[in-house]
Amino acid sequence: MAVLTRVRLGQLLDYAAPPGGVQTGDYVVVPLGRRHEIGVVWADAVGDIDENRIKPIASRIAVPPMRPDLMMFLERAAEYTLTPLTAMFGRTTRLPAMNERPRSEERYHLTCTPPDRVTQARDRVMTTLSAAQDGSMTAREILLAAKVSASVLRGLEKTGVVERSTVVLPMLADDYDLGRAGIRLTEEQQRAAGNLCAGVQSRSFGVTLLKGVAGSGKTEAYLEAVRETLQLGRQVLVLLPEIALTSQFVDRVTHRFGRAPRLWHSAVSTPLKRDVWHMVAEGSAPLVVGARSSLFLPFRDLGLIVIDEEHDDSYKQDEGTIYHARDMAIYRASISNSLVILTSATPSLETWVNARSGKYREEVLTSRFGSAGMPDMDTIDMRGEELPSSTWISEALASEIRNRLACREQSLLFLNRRGYAPVSVCRECGHQLGCPDCDARLVRHLLRDRLVCHQCGESMAPPAICPECEAEGSMTLLGPGVERLAEEARNTFPDATIEILSSDHIRSTEHLRESIRRIAAGTVDLIVGTQLVAKGHNFPRLTLVGVIDADIGLQGGDYRAAEKTFQLVRQVAGRAGRDELPGLVLLQTWRPEHPVIQAILDGDDETFWATEAREREIAGVPPYGQYVGITLSGRDVDAVHDYATSLVMHSEPVRSVGALLYGPAPAAIFRVRGMARYRLLVHGERSLRIQRALRVWLSRHPPPSTIKVVVDVDPHRFL
Ligand code: ADP
Ligand code: ZN
Ligand code: ZN
Repeated sequence: MAVLTRVRLGQLLDYAAPPGGVQTGDYVVVPLGRRHEIGVVWADAVGDIDENRIKPIASRIAVPPMRPDLMMFLERAAEYTLTPLTAMFGRTTRLPAMNERPRSEERYHLTCTPPDRVTQARDRVMTTLSAAQDGSMTAREILLAAKVSASVLRGLEKTGVVERSTVVLPMLADDYDLGRAGIRLTEEQQRAAGNLCAGVQSRSFGVTLLKGVAGSGKTEAYLEAVRETLQLGRQVLVLLPEIALTSQFVDRVTHRFGRAPRLWHSAVSTPLKRDVWHMVAEGSAPLVVGARSSLFLPFRDLGLIVIDEEHDDSYKQDEGTIYHARDMAIYRASISNSLVILTSATPSLETWVNARSGKYREEVLTSRFGSAGMPDMDTIDMRGEELPSSTWISEALASEIRNRLACREQSLLFLNRRGYAPVSVCRECGHQLGCPDCDARLVRHLLRDRLVCHQCGESMAPPAICPECEAEGSMTLLGPGVERLAEEARNTFPDATIEILSSDHIRSTEHLRESIRRIAAGTVDLIVGTQLVAKGHNFPRLTLVGVIDADIGLQGGDYRAAEKTFQLVRQVAGRAGRDELPGLVLLQTWRPEHPVIQAILDGDDETFWATEAREREIAGVPPYGQYVGITLSGRDVDAVHDYATSLVMHSEPVRSVGALLYGPAPAAIFRVRGMARYRLLVHGERSLRIQRALRVWLSRHPPPSTIKVVVDVDPHRFL
């Protein structure tokens, strides 16, 4: 049998079937060298190897076999992302000891052996056990009910009066209450929900963009589709961009269907994950909420995948196996005949184009629920503000904050920069502190009292003297991060309760959950946050959003800069005025006339997208063209450069299919963790099936062992 393992040795390995035989899709354990590896039977034998020489499969794992749709998904995903199939398989079984038996417990029952002597305590145990429902109880239950000590039970066991056995606990299927009445939907919401349900009922593949501003009821609408899918007995996967958002969502599901969904993300404990994996495979976990890795779970019958906030960049996994969870979800759904719902207030341009062209269906919720209108938007022209040095909150913004404080409403100051100050510079010689291993500046963090490199994570104590000119006390900090902005806010509004929401300040998901609860409950007056706040939290008393630097992101040479800025600012703006109270959004900018800023102000999304789409079409960049980024890295600069050059010289396979090749160019951040990095960029038309050509090209010219090659199909970042 050809077995796929997680070990990258060619692809499939041949083994003889064990006694009792195996079927395609069976999970097995196979000997490999001195170790044992988990594998899955992928096909009949690979080659004509001497039957007598191949080793037998060690054992079959007692779990439901991998379904053909997951097998096909792994193959296609591997092909598309140019990832070895072995690595893709690894993503489906990254669970330590997944083959261990599921939860079990030890239970005691009476035998027919009479006790050698009867004490009152022993008698109580025997009476208790003989009255037990199915004749058996756990030690804990016995000790509690019979009020005896553990030694009594041990004595009875030793003399054979009671016997102990291990019982595998049956996994009870999660039971959702689908009969509960939901919220009364508005007409618009009802239409959207109805169409989504029809999509689910058709049991065929389709993608629907569910577009609507924050608070328009997208979640309410797709929960109806969730209900419909559960009703049909099929499974649902809901992907959220941020683990921190799960708690709010879990509460809503619990409220709507009477129990919590199963969770799958990095903060879930291993034993729990093991349960979820098994239950998903058996079909007894009909609703899973997770991070992008949950796409690789062995669903028995997946009917619906929801990608909440589909434009969110965190769906792009850019380390290890590089893939975009949204795109992969659509792949998976197309194989298992499922409906995909993409939700967003500000869809990615790719999705917008697909909706426009009719490839995706579109449902639009135009109004916010209830009385909450869209917030008013305005710019504050920073060219007219004369701010004292090292302050960033304009007077216009400060006075609006004061108004909010006076009536106990909340304000949010948004700055997408972690830490205290992005630059440490010497006043004497102008030297800027940088990471010794990367071409990146060190960011001052107060919380940890360190200088931190945001590229590699290394940190160091702030130096007392300038490392360049040795001047004492000459280092000074330039620019704001959220910590510094919070400090300014504390000085300006001494009576306000201020909370920072930034990844550095969050010790755990529990901690973040607490923060969010506190803010939602209204005990915080002023939130200072990074993009962490841009994602779907619901803060009913928040009525003012101040964007400290709306121009960040507009400078980048990235073709997606305008799109990203537009989305981020619109998302943050969506935090304001979600409930009864009207909201106001103020953008501090040095370029109020910039088309992106104007588009944000006008709230005219369609014009923004249409303009942006036209520009990309002319330039032939995604979604109209296709990019593949290749990063080559190694310690020896010359060796990396030489290899890059030789790759280009031998690039006939990609050129012959009509793709263009750019580079080698030093990466924008040339050194990371001491590794020199060069980049090649392959650019082709969308219709090109570029992957095969790339595979031929790269396999003909494998890198020396000192050089690492990372291929990123549809790259989002060009660093
Ligand atoms: P979105 O997902 O678009 O941000 P939600 O579905 O979270 O919107 O809705 C925002 C808030 O409005 C939620 O608290 C939700 O319960 C409430 N809501 C939405 N639609 C209705 C409705 N028809 N009736 C009552 N409350 C609603
Ligand atoms: Zn100096
Ligand atoms: Zn670094």
